[in-house]
Amino acid sequence: IPIEKLTTQAAQQEISQLQEKLTQYGVAYYEQDAPLIEDAVYDALYARLVTLESGFPQFVNPDSPTQNVGGAMTKSGLDKVIHPAPMLSLGDVFSLTELDEWDTRTTKSLGFQSSYNLELKIDGLAVALTYASGQLVQASTRGNGTIGEDVTANVKMIQAIPQVLSEPITIEVRGEIYMPKASFAALNNQRELDGLAPFANPRNAAAGSLRQLNSKIMKQRHLSAFVYYTAEPDILGVTTQSGALTRFAELGLPTDTHNRVITKMTDISDYIDEYTAARDELSYGIDGVVVKANQLDDQLDLGHTVKIPRWAIAYKFPPEEALTVVREIEWTV
Ligand code: NAD
Repeated sequence: IPIEKLTTQAAQQEISQLQEKLTQYGVAYYEQDAPLIEDAVYDALYARLVTLESGFPQFVNPDSPTQNVGGAMTKSGLDKVIHPAPMLSLGDVFSLTELDEWDTRTTKSLGFQSSYNLELKIDGLAVALTYASGQLVQASTRGNGTIGEDVTANVKMIQAIPQVLSEPITIEVRGEIYMPKASFAALNNQRELDGLAPFANPRNAAAGSLRQLNSKIMKQRHLSAFVYYTAEPDILGVTTQSGALTRFAELGLPTDTHNRVITKMTDISDYIDEYTAARDELSYGIDGVVVKANQLDDQLDLGHTVKIPRWAIAYKFPPEEALTVVREIEWTV
């Protein structure tokens, strides 16, 4: 039902049902690494909740999934780590029209057209890596954005992540840990042979591997990583997002080299078309494109909400099985 046609009471009821369901799906996804529904179904229900909450802001409560990053991490048995700066999620859009609207808001807010760095949206989970005098001393998951889990021992098993940087600097960098497609296929084959339930997708397999307590198991899981962010760019002497990626690579950190700087939003459609077509050929899963204000000063000016940066947005690829998704949504609501 379009929100203009909803009574306040009907809106309140739908909002509260969606908040409750999405919270339950979030616990299964973030804390148990075992999703109950397809991502695209979750995304569609989440988008409906965002629309309803913006039409009826009196029913937004601080526990709503729209106001919180990730899950609560009550079960894993890993030590907790307080993030020096919050680890945020990303806002998402599903069409070029919505991207245009985001660009218009961003341009209006800055007072000029920002250039954008386009990156592939890696289908993994966020990690923070702390290096002290060039040595890897801590790795943590995003958790609820404020408190993450200490996964240092497991991250040390990931070959792509250097234990020592090429320069003796002290810095926290962030990126994505993912399971390459080949590792995922091999893992699920083995699990089938062992009579174990297969992982639903590479993202859940990566998260499940990282958050289990046995580093020997981790070594067999062949995870990899890309670094794409630091909250301390001054340490690197960089002023742009694309420049930060270059510096990460110089330091020996793994970076995805498929990024591209554009100066107007219409140029994004070529990038989206290219990677929609090339998606299957990549050795790792991607679920969209991330658009980031390229000038770090612009990022600071745009700031963030409690959950997402205003200087970036994720364009999500359409789900591969659209019909199944429509049916699942009908079944879920
Ligand atoms: P998200 O995964 O959609 O986007 C934010 C994350 O993108 C960041 O935290 C980062 O880890 C990652 N990322 C990948 N490449 C990046 C890049 N180049 N630059 C910056 N960040 C990059 O958001 P989320 O909050 O982690 O999770 C929400 C998503 O999780 C939903 O859209 C949904 O698809 C899925 N989800 C599914 C279920 C389910 O039941 N199936 C439940 C909860 C969440």
